[in-house]
Amino acid sequence: MARIGFVGLGNMGAHMARNLLKAGHEVTVFDLVPAAISAVVASGAKGAASAADAARGAEYVITMLPAGQHVRDAWLGAGGMAAASAPDALMIDCSTIDVATARDVAAKSGRAFVDAPVSGGMMGAEAGTLTFMVGGTKEHFARAEPILKQMGRNIIHCGESGAGQGVKLCNNMMLAATMIVTSEAFVLAEKLGLSHQVLFDVCSTSTSNSWALSSYCPVPGPAPASPANREYKPGFAAALMAKDLGLAQEAVEQAGTASPIGAHALALFRQYLERGGGDKDFSGIINMIREGGVK
Ligand code: NAD
Repeated sequence: MARIGFVGLGNMGAHMARNLLKAGHEVTVFDLVPAAISAVVASGAKGAASAADAARGAEYVITMLPAGQHVRDAWLGAGGMAAASAPDALMIDCSTIDVATARDVAAKSGRAFVDAPVSGGMMGAEAGTLTFMVGGTKEHFARAEPILKQMGRNIIHCGESGAGQGVKLCNNMMLAATMIVTSEAFVLAEKLGLSHQVLFDVCSTSTSNSWALSSYCPVPGPAPASPANREYKPGFAAALMAKDLGLAQEAVEQAGTASPIGAHALALFRQYLERGGGDKDFSGIINMIREGGVK
């Protein structure tokens, strides 16, 4: 049993914290939204009054926050978690953020620190089957692995600090483009008079199969757990996907490579956000494609 501080109890973090509780750990939780704290306290966690409070006295401190600025503020800001944490504690940031911020926060924290962004969505967070992409030293990875195993199935050491975030941005760029083209295919099938179920049955057992199709199908019906079955309630919010695509494009530019499909995916998600889709699941982009006028 370990003492764990957990900060950020949104769509992902609440499930992850509950899995740590189920594994028998003592988990102290904090979120800016009081109702998010009470919901996890009802599952057996202790509530903290601030992020620093959650970090104090913990052997492991985990964050699951929206973006880089939240991570920087929570760890390094006034009354930050790094200063409040025990000098020998291990810090684990599971948020998806840019590589430079991940490296900078890790270096400035003065603590053992790994970046450990995840893949697998809310379903994976709830089932404890997430994939963790970990950046940090071998020693820090070895310390993080047993804790991450209680929230995930595949725990992969990707390299030094920031490497986990690099892999995650590549993953989400592929996912976004796949979801868009899957949505385009479903809308085309509708126009051709084909049934959703027929397209799903054929393609999910054919060369076009993907997680976006078989687990997260953008139309209601074929994949029962997908957000399409609950009016595109996230899930993984389109605003977060647009954030990740922006980070991926920054990385593409810095690396001096080209990603025209990734760039177009970002432009399409920005259009979806302009049309009010930011707080819908990212698979809701099918509705924009169906409405037309897409550039
Ligand atoms: P979310 O917006 O549902 O949750 C974030 C939580 O952090 C919110 O409850 C918010 O109140 C809290 N928060 C923000 N700033 C805070 C602060 N300073 N202190 C304490 N709490 C604070 O987001 P999510 O969907 O859970 O995603 C979290 C991270 O995981 C993001 O970086 C996202 O890109 C990544 N991610 C999400 C998914 C997914 O399917 N939702 C999948 C993989 C990765």
